[in-house]
Amino acid sequence: MTLSILITGASRGIGAAIAHDLAGRGHRVAVHAGRDAEAARAVRDALPGGGHAVVVGDVGRPDECRTIVDSSVRELGGLDVLVNNAGIFEAHPVDATSFEDWHQAWRHTVDVNLLGPANLAWLVARHLLDRPAGPEGGRLISVGSRGAYRGEPVTPAYGASKAGLHSMTQSLAVALAPHGILAAAVAPGFVETDMGRTVLDGPDGDAVRAQSPFARAATPEEVARTVGWLATDAPVWVSGTVIDVNGASYLR
Ligand code: NAP
Repeated sequence: MTLSILITGASRGIGAAIAHDLAGRGHRVAVHAGRDAEAARAVRDALPGGGHAVVVGDVGRPDECRTIVDSSVRELGGLDVLVNNAGIFEAHPVDATSFEDWHQAWRHTVDVNLLGPANLAWLVARHLLDRPAGPEGGRLISVGSRGAYRGEPVTPAYGASKAGLHSMTQSLAVALAPHGILAAAVAPGFVETDMGRTVLDGPDGDAVRAQSPFARAATPEEVARTVGWLATDAPVWVSGTVIDVNGASYLR
């Protein structure tokens, strides 16, 4: 069965790899970008299969979340799966940040990394509950982070937002199971993307790679294959899980 899947933040990095994985499994995807529509179109044009779409909007804005979901439903003819992947990682160390900048960093990070996914989850859940075929088989997958467990000393709002995202996933798993909808998340360690390279290419890069006994960071494809499985083939009994994808760099 071909699924229709919205992947946020799919214009590059992990999201683009997820789009390739899911299109490669034979599904139709909406490739979402925050701003860079051209990059999203380039990702879409390189995907296997047909019928894929591009949607653009700031997930930190509730009105734009509505547009993102409405456009995806219209372009794909419905939605079965949401992959909440878009996110930001902005430095604001407590000992070197003004109060004004601290507050701003928390506001922006929580808006994009937690309230955005929460709003998108509501909108897609509503779509699933209202669709003529019924909600059974719908899936809500989120890309969280190892930082929720291990701490994020330079980006504390990021760690907190991802902990909230994991918790939201668990709550939605319980709330939506009676409707046959699965909710699950992944918690990657550092990944070789634009975001990951802000640390991996810096003075702490070798120390971060050494956190894993594999002595490297993840590839986007390693995260994408895990998300692709959760979004499609994983048994519904994994609902509520948060899968570590961190090369044994942090065991809990
Ligand atoms: P990335 O390379 O920085 O790409 C971020 C994506 O999110 C882009 O497509 C970007 O679109 C989109 N985006 C950013 N702000 C947005 C906003 N306000 N509204 C809508 N879209 C927005 O990031 P990545 O490394 O692939 O990370 C993807 C996810 O994995 C994130 O949730 C991140 O927290 C998580 N993660 C990453 C790592 C890592 O080491 N890389 C580790 C653990 C978890 P535009 O370019 O168009 O703005």
